Amino acid sequence: MPDWWEARQGALRAALAGEGLDGLLVTHLPNIRYLTGFTGSAALLLVRADDALLVTDFRYATQAPQEVGESARVEIDQASVWQRLLQHLAELPPRSLGIEAHALTVRDAERLGGAGRGRTVTTVDLVERLRAVKDPGELAAIRSAAVLAQDALAEVLPSVRIGRTEREIAADLEAALRRRGSEWHPFPTIVASGPRSALPHARTSGRALEPGDWLLLDFGAQVDGYCADLTRTVVVGRRADERQRAIYELVQAAQRRALEHLRAGMTGREGDALAREVITERGFGHAFGHSLGHGLGLEVHEAPRVAPTADAPLPLHAVVTVEPGVYLPGWGGVRLEDDIYLGPGGAECLSDNRTELVELV
Ligand code: ZN
Ligand code: ZN
Repeated sequence: MPDWWEARQGALRAALAGEGLDGLLVTHLPNIRYLTGFTGSAALLLVRADDALLVTDFRYATQAPQEVGESARVEIDQASVWQRLLQHLAELPPRSLGIEAHALTVRDAERLGGAGRGRTVTTVDLVERLRAVKDPGELAAIRSAAVLAQDALAEVLPSVRIGRTEREIAADLEAALRRRGSEWHPFPTIVASGPRSALPHARTSGRALEPGDWLLLDFGAQVDGYCADLTRTVVVGRRADERQRAIYELVQAAQRRALEHLRAGMTGREGDALAREVITERGFGHAFGHSLGHGLGLEVHEAPRVAPTADAPLPLHAVVTVEPGVYLPGWGGVRLEDDIYLGPGGAECLSDNRTELVELV
């Protein structure tokens, strides 16, 4: 039996003791997966000092015990997982039970707060803070997802040509990702061309490629539940013009500076500034409106943040994206995104960081 769940639940129990809590009701599914291995779409996990109880429904009667193993006791309730949980809390009421602020409805919080069930205390990111520090198995999964994603792109790029639509290219890319073993697309694939590349979170459309367009592709892969997140921007149909080349080189220089200097122990704000300063010095600060990066793991956006508003230090063994961009409405945008491991020796790129300008002519 692997001992990863003992280590994770042990760290959580230490955090609970530090907060003066004698239990945590875990309702955020990625947190449940992290603590027990359960991958289903409905469950409640009650972690106490000497016990972990997972309650789920009939659909997972076979799957849950297989996945969870010894990491938690599993109970199946055909009628209501909440009623089952409330029964357990009534039998052995915790003095103070933590709940996850971002993953509990007001209705469910009210059910929990009923008479005789002890005090509920809102917690913020207790499990997420543990998840920010990756163990070697998690790191290996993210690395595999990144390699899979970049190989899928390399397969698809040669078929990109003028007249094809964003959606057709997204379809090819998604098929290549799945064929190569991606469990699912961790977020909707972004394929944005021409002026649409200036929309940082564009929806892939039916627009057909024209000569000289930017083509921005932001896409992910998932291996063992762990996500990779990559962005490449290429020119299609003819050589890049002078302005395209200048903006591209600016984004590339910003990313390179961040990759060279990003370290665990820096605050998210300091990390973000590494790239932002390069872009701002050249007068394009207004055109880089999002943060430099985000944590990657069981979710595609998780702790830690690499952002101008992030005061927390980046933990050792975190995995984050580094994705500067410059977006000029009506003209187009460039973003380059790679996935980075913050190890003891500094930043290590898990993706290939092949960001030389590609002109598909
Ligand atoms: Zn992305
Ligand atoms: Zn990203």
